[in-house]
Amino acid sequence: MLQEQEAHAAEMERTFIAIKPDGVQRGLISEIISRFEQKGFKLVAIKIVVPSKDFAKKHYHDLKERPFFNGLCDFLSSGPVFAMVWEGEGVIKYGRKLIGATDPQKSEPGTIRGDLAVVVGRNIIHGSDGPETAKDEIGLWFKPEELVSYTSNAEKWVYGVN
Ligand code: GDP
Ligand code: MG
Repeated sequence: MLQEQEAHAAEMERTFIAIKPDGVQRGLISEIISRFEQKGFKLVAIKIVVPSKDFAKKHYHDLKERPFFNGLCDFLSSGPVFAMVWEGEGVIKYGRKLIGATDPQKSEPGTIRGDLAVVVGRNIIHGSDGPETAKDEIGLWFKPEELVSYTSNAEKWVYGVN
């Protein structure tokens, strides 16, 4: 049992997920939270904020050479963003699966973008694409004390370890 607990602890990850202004304005916050929550992932931080354009540029710095970069940063800073940190085994990679492909036309039905969005410029949600970006993005959007560590009552049922 101890080995299982150690393996479980070692697999725990955190990822940064944000509902962009289109998802907030369309009333999709609870739908998106539900998908992560019902899967068995654990919410450890939330905030709703209108980011400045400079902040949006920091968030999307990897894309600064892309032609859509300026419009993307204008859009992210145009209204409220619902920022979250989710925790769980494999949550970085599986969070991206729940979200679906970048272009909603290519996202499978059953994914968030597949079910709820139509065009790439209004694809409603952001999710970190790997462990390094998850760490950087969580650090950009949240102070360490805004992340809450707790044991959820569901965990022993989700993971089968106590
Ligand atoms: P993501 O990780 O799936 O969100 O995709 P990327 O990191 O590649 O791009 C970040 C965001 O830029 C996407 O979610 C889209 O909102 C936007 N984006 C990506 N590619 C395009 C594009 O070809 N055109 C436009 N207008 N926006 C794009
Ligand atoms: Mg990305």
